Amino acid sequence: MSHLTVLSVASEAYPLVKTGGLGDVVGALPAALAAEGIATTTLLPGYPAVLEALHGASTVHAYDALHGGAARLIAGRAGALDLLVLDAPHLYARPGNPYVGPDGHDWPDNAQRFAALGAAAADVARGAVQGFAPDIVHAHDWQAGMAVALLHYAGGRRPGTVMTVHNLAFQGKFPATLLADVGLPPHAFTPDGVEFHGAIGYLKAGIALADRITTVSPTYAAEIRTPEHGMGLDGLLRHRANVLSGILNGIDTDVWNPATDAHLAARYDSRRLGRRAANRIALQARLGLDADPGALLVGVVSRLTLQKGMDLLPDVLPALVARGGQLALLGSGDRALEAALAAAADATPGRIAVTIGYDETLAHQIQGGVDALLVPSRFEPCGLTQLCALHYGAVPLVARTGGLADTVIDTNEVALAADAGTGIVFSPDSRDTLRVALDRATRLRRDPRAWRSLQRRGMKTDVSWRAPAGQYAALFRALAVERAPANR
Ligand code: ADP
Repeated sequence: MSHLTVLSVASEAYPLVKTGGLGDVVGALPAALAAEGIATTTLLPGYPAVLEALHGASTVHAYDALHGGAARLIAGRAGALDLLVLDAPHLYARPGNPYVGPDGHDWPDNAQRFAALGAAAADVARGAVQGFAPDIVHAHDWQAGMAVALLHYAGGRRPGTVMTVHNLAFQGKFPATLLADVGLPPHAFTPDGVEFHGAIGYLKAGIALADRITTVSPTYAAEIRTPEHGMGLDGLLRHRANVLSGILNGIDTDVWNPATDAHLAARYDSRRLGRRAANRIALQARLGLDADPGALLVGVVSRLTLQKGMDLLPDVLPALVARGGQLALLGSGDRALEAALAAAADATPGRIAVTIGYDETLAHQIQGGVDALLVPSRFEPCGLTQLCALHYGAVPLVARTGGLADTVIDTNEVALAADAGTGIVFSPDSRDTLRVALDRATRLRRDPRAWRSLQRRGMKTDVSWRAPAGQYAALFRALAVERAPANR
C-alpha cells in the first residue's frame, strides 16, 4: 500500500475549536485515515484556542503581508493531530466563536480571513513548506473553498483537490468587488468559476473547481441535486454529479464510549444495560425532572434552528407530557427558539427541562441517560447525535432526511418481525408525524424486552470511522493516480 499524504484544510477541529459536526469530523478523520496508511496534516486558522494547544511548534513559512498583516505558518501537534497553523493575529486573534463577533454579526472581514486560509493552503500545496508535498488537498466547507479556487487559478503542478460539503446552507458569499482583494484573477468571475448570483461564492467555487466533491451521506448527496435541497447550487451539483459522492460520517468511539465515559454516573455496555438506570436518575436529578421511572424520557442535543426542526417542538410537547413523557433538551442558537423552549419548560416543571448553552458533559449525560434521542431536522447532511445515540443505547427518533435516513432503521412491523429496527423514522417538517413518532416510542417502550432488543441492535450498529475512512482512502488513492500524468 503506497503512502499518501493529505493536507486537510478547515476552520474547526475537535477538541481545539468546534461549533458543530464539522469540527468533530475534521478532528477524528486523520486518526482513522492513518489506519488506512494515509498521513494527514491539518491546516487551521490560528485562533487563540488553537495556538494555546499547539506543542512542538516551529515556524515553517513566513509572510511579510497576508491580507493586511504579517503572518506565519507554524508546524506542531495537538493531541493526535499533526497541524499547520496560520498564525495571523490581525485575522484570527479574537476570542469566542470563529465566525461571529460579540455583536452577533459575522466578522466584517470574513472574506479576507478565509481567503488567507485558502492562500496559505494553496501555498503549502505548491511546496511552500520544505519537505511537505501533499498528494491531496481536502477542503472542508466554505471556509476552505478558496484553497481549491486559488490552486485552480494558479495553474501548474498541484495536488488533487477534494471539496467536502458538511452543510450546503453555509455558503461563504461575498461582494464581487472583493475579487482582486481575495486574490482571484478577473477571469475567475464566471458561472463556471467563483461567480454565484452576482457575488463571490467560496463554497460554490470549491464545488465548481474541485476534482472531487463529497458530502456526508449518500442520501444528502442525492438530495442536494434537487431544487428543494440544493440551496441554489443544485444545477451545478447535477452538472458535477459524476464526481459527487456521499460518505457517511463516523463518530470518535474513544470520545464516545459508554463503557469508559467519565461524564456518566454509571458506565455500561450492551450486556450491562441495566446500569443505564443510574444515569437516568442522575440526569433527572441534575435537570430538576421528576424521578419518574415510567416516563418516556426524550433527549435533544442540538443547535436551536429551523434546520433542526426545533420550532416544531413547542406545539408537540404538550402531547408528550400528556402521555407521561419527559424532555431533556440541551442547545443554543436562535434567540426566539431559545425563548419559546424555555417558556415550555417553565410551563411544565418536572416534565420538560431546557438547558440553553453548550455543554459537552451534559451532552454525554443526556446520551447516556435518556430513553430516546429526538432529531426532527428538516434537512440533515449526516447528523452525529443520532450516531452517538445508537452507540449509547438511546433509541434515535429521526426525520427521514439526509444522513438520518441513512443511519437509522425504522422499527416498523416488518422490521420488528425481522429483528431489524434500530429507531423510529418519520416524515420531516410535520408536527403530526412527530406526534405519531413520539406515540410509537411510548408504546414500544411499554414492552421492556422489545425496547431492550431495540437498544441492543442500535448499539451493534458500526458508527465508527472504520468504514467511512476506507471510502475516503479509496477516493483519495484513485484521485492521486488520476492526477499523476497531469503532474508529470
Ligand atoms: P451540526 O453540525 O449541524 O450542528 P451534527 O449532529 O453534525 O450537527 O453535530 C453536532 C455536534 O455538536 C455533536 O457532536 C453534538 O453532540 C454537539 N452539540 C450540539 N449542540 C451542543 C450543545 N448545546 N452542547 C454540547 N454539544 C453540542
